[in-house]
Amino acid sequence: MLMTFDYGFTDDQKEIIKLAREIAEKKIKPVRAHYDETEEFPWEVIEDIRKADLFGVYLPVEYGGFGGANTEMCLVSEELSKACGGISLAVTACGLCAIPILLFGNEAQRQRWLPDLGSGKRLGAFNITEPDAGSDATATKSTARREGDYYVLNGLKNFCTNGEAAEIYIVFATVNPVRGPRGITAFVVEKGTPGFTFGKKETKMGIRASSTYELIFENCKIPASNRLGSEGYGLFVAQATFDFSRPGVGSQALGIAQGALDETIKYIRNRKQFGQTVISFQAIQHMMADCAMKIEAGRALLYSVNRTMDKIQKEAYARAKESGKLVYEEMRALNPGRVTKYSAMVKAFCSDVAMQVTTDCVQMCGGIGYMRDFPVEKYMRDAKITQIYEGTNQVQRNEIAMMMIKEYASQMVQKELLKV
Ligand SMILES: Cc1cc2nc3c(=O)[nH]c(=O)nc-3n(C[C@H](O)[C@H](O)[C@H](O)COP(=O)(O)OP(=O)(O)OC[C@H]3O[C@@H](n4cnc5c(N)ncnc54)[C@H](O)[C@@H]3O)c2cc1C
Repeated sequence: MLMTFDYGFTDDQKEIIKLAREIAEKKIKPVRAHYDETEEFPWEVIEDIRKADLFGVYLPVEYGGFGGANTEMCLVSEELSKACGGISLAVTACGLCAIPILLFGNEAQRQRWLPDLGSGKRLGAFNITEPDAGSDATATKSTARREGDYYVLNGLKNFCTNGEAAEIYIVFATVNPVRGPRGITAFVVEKGTPGFTFGKKETKMGIRASSTYELIFENCKIPASNRLGSEGYGLFVAQATFDFSRPGVGSQALGIAQGALDETIKYIRNRKQFGQTVISFQAIQHMMADCAMKIEAGRALLYSVNRTMDKIQKEAYARAKESGKLVYEEMRALNPGRVTKYSAMVKAFCSDVAMQVTTDCVQMCGGIGYMRDFPVEKYMRDAKITQIYEGTNQVQRNEIAMMMIKEYASQMVQKELLKV
């Protein structure tokens, strides 16, 4: 394995890296081809990750976590993804479920669901996508009808990661279709609730150890206390969640890229053509150098953005504990500008890097790189999804540009005001 740059990680964070790396090497690498081939859910590895206590590294200690934040989540994801991006996703998908509970849940809701998600006792999932509402989440058709102290959910959600394996689901549905985007609301639904079943299991190009399912809601009655945030605030919940979860996709992407490069270098050091090793060809060395530069640029962006996010997250938790307000409210007070632009940059940049690097790795290995019994092609298949989910990279670029336009516009207004 190549040396990795130390971005000022603390001793605790270095311990997390060591632990996750050990699981990746000893527990994931030996079984990853099996899960890729069979598309079964990797329960035995989930058990190892649970025992190592790596599920909740980003959660506050009062909810059974390690007291970390985004950096810790990304370190785990990066290391596990070096071995298998599909298996690592089972862990980060739980984060995608826990983040909205942490940001928008009241204390009772946080106490009810976070400890199980943090220990990995129960897995989590997050589902906003529907067949007609992909990039455009405002087109959500699933409904949640209020009936006294309950909501009754109806609709079909699709492409749910950790679907069927999870027991706690964040689900988005509209409480009032007439209100369009302002009707969409977030709910927590537990597995086993009558009226909540699973539909089609998807078969996929990559991340085949990850389970992807349809969720079906037919008159599914859930307590009103399962609503996260206010009615009509679902899209805020989703966007704020993505602000903190997209770096997780970036870390998954970089882990996949680094894993592919490590396997490639191991091979080309020994492979001989024209009487010399493949690694001694300068054309190959330049590709290696480009891959390494791109990965390191991604890591530099990821971990510097994370450092700021960690600070905001930790301060907001501490303030919310004192004030009794939602963590999200404290976050907005601390950082009214939000982190959407930077989070989208991390996700888009790192996932584009992963696709470029893994494609080049197949190229550097030649024909063997294309074969299913050699580990490199799997990285290329796994990398592709990182450019698609949690908002495609086109959508990330839309968001980055939109934030830039707003920032420039507000600067211009301020300048005009100052003139007067
Ligand atoms: C394996 C897998 C796991 C997933 N897991 C989850 C999950 O756990 N939870 C969940 O909620 N969702 C999940 N998704 C859904 C995922 O987030 C969506 O697939 C993704 O957001 C894109 O939506 P779509 O597939 O409907 O594509 P579409 O929205 O139909 O997009 C098609 C193309 O049009 C482009 N496009 C769309 N709108 C614009 C625009 N405004 N500007 C420029 N280009 C645009 C897109 O970039 C894309 O290239 C998963 C998807 C997959 C494949």
